[in-house]
Amino acid sequence: AAKAAGRGALRFFEIEMDVAAQARRALELDLRHAMARGELQVYFQPIVDLSTDRFAGCEALLRWKHPTRGFVSPAEFIPIAEETGLIIPIGEWVVGEACAMAAGWPRDMRVAVNLSPVQFKDPHLPMRIIGALSRTGLPASRLELEITETAVLQDSEATLAAMHQLQHLGVHMSLDDFGTGFSSLSYLRTFPFQKIKIDQSFTRDLGRDPGALAIVRAVSAMGKDLGMHIVVEGVETQEQLDLVRREGCSEVQGYLLGRPMTNEALCALIAPEEPAQVGAQAGA
Ligand code: C2E
Ligand code: MG
Ligand code: MG
Ligand code: MG
Repeated sequence: AAKAAGRGALRFFEIEMDVAAQARRALELDLRHAMARGELQVYFQPIVDLSTDRFAGCEALLRWKHPTRGFVSPAEFIPIAEETGLIIPIGEWVVGEACAMAAGWPRDMRVAVNLSPVQFKDPHLPMRIIGALSRTGLPASRLELEITETAVLQDSEATLAAMHQLQHLGVHMSLDDFGTGFSSLSYLRTFPFQKIKIDQSFTRDLGRDPGALAIVRAVSAMGKDLGMHIVVEGVETQEQLDLVRREGCSEVQGYLLGRPMTNEALCALIAPEEPAQVGAQAGA
């Protein structure tokens, strides 16, 4: 009887797997058409410079509004795009959109675009970036590329070569989600990063877990000595903002400062010379 029950459980598991695989396959088919059907949109989340309390730039975050499922999380569809290679055309489109919109902003803020490790395997990546900059007229110095440790790990030599080419153009590079992957501090010496983005999992525990604060403090001190800026992601509370400010971090990003929003909403928010209000009083 136990054996039969075991088989039953296994069968049930197989059915569940089938259902998940089919759902994934359906999503993949929809994603193939999402760009042409205008279902993709780039949102922007402001990043505040703590030395001036003003918006320094924005991170471009991809949104997919599925016709029946509503918004699908990038955590769900980016991996599909990476496995199918769709990330190449989609990623190029994001870079183009982000540059075009940033070129039209009422202030000279930077735009940060996430790049997948798969895009770094594409030998045409630097050319695609140059193309987007020249088409939109955005100066290279206003573009930042965010790369996770995974990209650095997957094909170090090709990634390093592409990064050097991009750096030569004046494009800045940030190490995203720092502290979550199989980090090796040697990356920080080998790869030309100007910024380290401390992952939101550390920010979340600030004020609760002394370990999280110790890590933010250590990374901030190390960044300063290496000549890199430290950006803290996922700042949701005034307490977190006060703590990271005290630790000397350069920039902050999170729901407290602003949620990801449409370009239209962003332009209304950054009306020329309007200072960022959030947290302005915190340094006093
Ligand atoms: P990421 O690059 O680390 O982006 C930050 C994520 O944190 C975003 O999630 C953002 O909405 C979220 N976030 C910002 N502030 C807060 C906060 O205060 N609290 C919390 N809980 N979350 C906050 P999102 O937009 O869902 O994107 C998730 C991930 O998907 C991104 O992580 C990035 O790795 C990837 N992604 C998004 N857009 C693109 C893209 O255009 N290309 C590539 N390759 N990946 C992308
Ligand atoms: Mg990012
Ligand atoms: Mg991140
Ligand atoms: Mg992330």
